[in-house]
Amino acid sequence: MPDDALAISHQDWTQRAEALALPTRHRIAGADADGSGGTFPVVSPRDGRTLALVADAGEKEVDLAVSAARRAFDTGPWPRLSPEDRGRVLLRIAALIEEHRSELALAITLENGKPITESYDIELRALAYTFRWYGQLADKLTDTAPHAEPGALALVTREPSGVVGAVVPWNFPLTLAAWKVAPALAVGCTVVLKPSELTPLSALLLGRLADEAGLPPGALNVVAGDGPTTGRALGSHPDVDVLAFTGSTAVGRRFLHYAADSNLKRVWLELGGKSPNIILPDAPDLATASATAAWGIFFNQGEMCTAPSRLLVHESVAEEVTAAVVERAGTLRVGDPLDPATEMGALAGAARADSVQEHVRRGTESGARLRAGGMRREVLPGGSYFAPTVFDQVTPDMPLAREEIFGPVLSVLAFGSLDEAVALANDTEYGLAAGLWTSDLSTAHTVARRLRAGSVWVNCYERGDMAVPFGGYKQSGNGRDKSVHAVEKYTELKTTWIQL
Ligand code: NAD
Repeated sequence: MPDDALAISHQDWTQRAEALALPTRHRIAGADADGSGGTFPVVSPRDGRTLALVADAGEKEVDLAVSAARRAFDTGPWPRLSPEDRGRVLLRIAALIEEHRSELALAITLENGKPITESYDIELRALAYTFRWYGQLADKLTDTAPHAEPGALALVTREPSGVVGAVVPWNFPLTLAAWKVAPALAVGCTVVLKPSELTPLSALLLGRLADEAGLPPGALNVVAGDGPTTGRALGSHPDVDVLAFTGSTAVGRRFLHYAADSNLKRVWLELGGKSPNIILPDAPDLATASATAAWGIFFNQGEMCTAPSRLLVHESVAEEVTAAVVERAGTLRVGDPLDPATEMGALAGAARADSVQEHVRRGTESGARLRAGGMRREVLPGGSYFAPTVFDQVTPDMPLAREEIFGPVLSVLAFGSLDEAVALANDTEYGLAAGLWTSDLSTAHTVARRLRAGSVWVNCYERGDMAVPFGGYKQSGNGRDKSVHAVEKYTELKTTWIQL
């Protein structure tokens, strides 16, 4: 299996896509299961073709999946295995992901529209790495015995929280699922995963591979369906102990209500963003800063929670930077997602493209200046393609500066002083990420501390590593995915006192 999607030709990817067998049934208790609520179509944004009719999980299937996870947790072997043995199963899942890399990447590209290079090279690598990382972590966690009162022994242990419901979006259908599923399984929880209704196929494939790798039945269940029915049923289920969600802030809020109205399950939220990227005139290299600003907003079609969608640039270099980004927007290759030469694929569906178009219309109406793009692109008939788009002369009150667009649309705001830049950066309900470009070490540290965001990138953007936590401040969420900190979401702290 080549390590690089470019090693396989466009024609070959297209033939593989045509031959791909796609799953249509839920995965419950280690077996395929139908839905009682009929089926729903999964449509490819690449060309509008229906890829599959997938069983639709209603309350009944969610209840079956939660019951399977409950049994697997309460009486099954998974939480009782040694951490090393649990780790071994996660390592086998990682190995099977690598073996099936091409099918999984194709499923993502067909259902989501992202270029095959992004699914095969980036998402699949991250997916296998996530399972491997937590597989290797499983037997390295330790408990503590603090120096407490003399005459007693105090033990502080972490125990698996129980049944985890994981509800995830469509922009990185498998990576974001794995950020929840892998740490939860590593500590001995059992899981019911609900992928987005736009991208259930890759998750259903993953569910099968996990069972094949030796997970006991019910340790990981996958149910497909929409948010208001399937997602709500999982969020409201009294037997779910933890609900880990990635998605929009509006829906995250709903999960807090579901928990409040049911069993007060723990709710962990990774939500939206409107991240600022501040370029100071002393940036080490303005060309690199501009190129990274363009890459950041157009990567994954702009469908990134961390997208640096507000470019805050000092007025003395604003035109130079904007012109460079506009030039890059004009040369980016928007094309067939199955062509490994494509740099930007399709948005995740016609509704997404309509939503981005509406943001552009309102942006123009608000008085911002459209410098690039702004309209749909014809690539394949029936597809949902959108041109890389840049607005400048954006002011802080405009919707372009405030609302998450979740598409390839950059808003450029100019500032005059450092304090103004920091104030602009923090002038948002979100707090997921921020970028800063400067050559001054002191400015780098002081501004990084002043930015209210979960990740701050200095002289780079979108760097990540599984060892490093990821999550948001403010209405971008709570808790952290990735790293050893993710374990905190899926464990309860227990204190045991022993009188000596
Ligand atoms: P979304 O909130 O519409 O949907 C996310 C998931 O929630 C889907 O599985 C969906 O079916 C489900 N859902 C929708 N409505 C529901 C309801 N009423 N009850 C229960 N479940 C419901 O988000 P999306 O459009 O799939 O994804 C885009 C959003 O995700 C953006 O806001 C983006 O910033 C955010 N996101 C955040 C991160 C992060 O790590 N912070 C990562 C990726 C995406």
